[in-house]
Amino acid sequence: MPLTLRFLGTSASRPTVERGVSSIALVREGETLLFDCGEGTQRQMMRYGVSFSFADVFFSHFHTDHYLGIIGLLRTMALQGRTDVLRCWGPQGAVRFLRKCETLGADRLTFPLEVKELDPGDSVRRRDYAMHAVLAEHRGATALSWALVEDTRRGRFNPDRARASGIPEGPMWGLIHRGEPVVLSDGRTVRPEELVGPSRPGRRVVITGDTRPCESTRLAATNADLLVHESTFGDEESQRALETGHSTAREAAQLAHEAGARRLVLTHLSARYTRDVSELESQARSVFAPTTIARDGMEIDVPFIDAGADTQDSADANGTEHA
Ligand SMILES: [Zn+2]
Ligand SMILES: [Zn+2]
Repeated sequence: MPLTLRFLGTSASRPTVERGVSSIALVREGETLLFDCGEGTQRQMMRYGVSFSFADVFFSHFHTDHYLGIIGLLRTMALQGRTDVLRCWGPQGAVRFLRKCETLGADRLTFPLEVKELDPGDSVRRRDYAMHAVLAEHRGATALSWALVEDTRRGRFNPDRARASGIPEGPMWGLIHRGEPVVLSDGRTVRPEELVGPSRPGRRVVITGDTRPCESTRLAATNADLLVHESTFGDEESQRALETGHSTAREAAQLAHEAGARRLVLTHLSARYTRDVSELESQARSVFAPTTIARDGMEIDVPFIDAGADTQDSADANGTEHA
């Protein structure tokens, strides 16, 4: 079950020749989620092969470098005759900003546009994951970060042991894998823990909007498989980061380290770092080695922590429900 992030825009405040402004597409099990939609996002989507047939945009806040692109995107979708609902999620103020974008983008949309405002602590529940709204600290702006947290997966089913125990392949395997004891024809009871390993954690991906390093991000990113954190400035502008409600590369790395994240990707770079990111990279890596500086078009794969531990995933009972 692949989970990948495609960075569509990685520049802070304004686009540069090399970088567009904020947007990330996350693709998980064929579902695409968009995070922020800066100016030019739709063209970046075309360039990097991100489908327009997605249903959700999660906005961090309503500074122009994070949402102006939705105007053109709505217009294109209307021109294409889209009929599926588009859901936009954001902090308080989302309705006001996005309804204005709606009237600018098209005379009449061909599809329903839903806008939902969330507060920190709220979450959007989906079949096998939840999207949590996380408090961000951004110079007084109402701003959120987002944490995608997958549900715990069932333990691995051991087909060899099942056969050895004389349990016929079939519906019983599925029952046991789902945690139910079964009674065999000879009267024996087989309990799930005999054939199913411990449940396995899902993945956790945290994507900040513009923010100072803060406790809420640290909590959300605890043991995260991937933290994407803004990193507008380097060490030499740490005072400016403080004043403008942004983070330095080193501060983001320190937070990733404290949270015990497995990997950090830095984005939202000030224009002065648009070409040469070596400074930012070395400042961050001196604190947290598994740091990558994002660039437009970059794709990041987020594997399961236990991926490759064994190959029994394909042997899930009945081969039906892959946990
Ligand atoms: Zn910004
Ligand atoms: Zn901002």
